[in-house]
Amino acid sequence: MSDPLLQTIEARRDDLIALTQDLIRIPTLNPPGDNYHAICAYLDARLSAHGFTTEMIRAQGAPADSETHPRWNLVARREGASPGECVHFNSHHDVVTVGEGWTRDPFGGELEGDRIYGRGACDMKGGLAASIIAAEAFIDTHPEFSGAVEISATADEETGGYGGVAYLAEQGYFDPERVQHVIIPEPLNKDRICLGHRGVWWAEIETKGRIAHGSMPFLGDCAVRHMGAVLEEMERTLFPLLALKHTDMPVVPEGARNSTMNINAIHGGANELPADYTGFPSACVPDSCRITIDRRFLIEENIDEVKAEIIAVLETVKSQRPEFRYDLRELWSVTPTMTDEYAPVVRTVQDAIAQVLDTQAQFVVSPGTYDQKHIDRIGRLKNCIAYGPGILDLAHQPDEWVGVQDMLDSAKVMALSLRALLVEPVQA
Ligand SMILES: [Zn+2]
Repeated sequence: MSDPLLQTIEARRDDLIALTQDLIRIPTLNPPGDNYHAICAYLDARLSAHGFTTEMIRAQGAPADSETHPRWNLVARREGASPGECVHFNSHHDVVTVGEGWTRDPFGGELEGDRIYGRGACDMKGGLAASIIAAEAFIDTHPEFSGAVEISATADEETGGYGGVAYLAEQGYFDPERVQHVIIPEPLNKDRICLGHRGVWWAEIETKGRIAHGSMPFLGDCAVRHMGAVLEEMERTLFPLLALKHTDMPVVPEGARNSTMNINAIHGGANELPADYTGFPSACVPDSCRITIDRRFLIEENIDEVKAEIIAVLETVKSQRPEFRYDLRELWSVTPTMTDEYAPVVRTVQDAIAQVLDTQAQFVVSPGTYDQKHIDRIGRLKNCIAYGPGILDLAHQPDEWVGVQDMLDSAKVMALSLRALLVEPVQA
């Protein structure tokens, strides 16, 4: 390996490990959004020292932004020697709750063998660290590059990204005139390129009844029985219909190549009693029952059709139950997105994977959404992928870890991609 760029990355192994450990040791739990300022300030100091112009940006007024938990983001930009295109690495700096089952300190950043352990090691502080090492090594070995390199660390991806990438996109940070290529180093495995994600539609269905004494239910109208009829109709017609819908998107795991729907929650009747209450509940006919549904849809479907299927279920039940009344409330939606596999950033990273790992990159699509949705919809930037180290299945798990060799390999892929895009641009 005589390439000075790859040698530089190899030589910075200890720096990469220390950087990853430092990031894990800042517990950026979300919710509620702890230590966002601290992690942005840490990255600000590191990247400023490396010639980046940095901006700390608070998502004022975004959901969950408050004086106690401000939503801080960092954008760092390093201009090259001449004008050209900009390559942007976007990582979220927040991590999910620790949960049960850990045998390591979740914020210790312990190194054992090739693995660094901690909440966020894989999702996605390892990816953030790899992109920083890649960018710094590239800048040091190719100071004559044209265009610009940007690194952002953004808030709240784990809770929708509204105080992070969505906010920055609204402020113009992902306008195609400003940024031309985006790589999101989410943990998708170092030999895979993630082109996009399925769509989401969340809604709440409420069935309505009439309260009465539980000993005389015929004087009331039971909302839970109505909901039972809705669930039965879903089992009878909707779930079989979804199972028949296949996508050509290369979604992993394979089970997610169909349309899917989860029922996230069901609530009906009187509220649950506090755990320390020792009496009995009261005898009432429930006058309301609610479910929250989480429908994931395919690029071949459209959202109107997704809604119409649910309305058809409800109207069928209504035609069979004279007293049936319902409300349908939409909570959230995201349209599916998939970058063209011949887009410049895809081809470039694909070539770099072939060079570093001597393998053909696998194209995948994520079953759930991530910040690419905002870059696509608000930023109108289509040349975007997720590519980064770490094993996707470890995300959000106890004893989460990231492999040092995986981080080094993906840093090499990122650095070669920077060189291909900013030093040896692909001829159009
Ligand atoms: Zn993530």
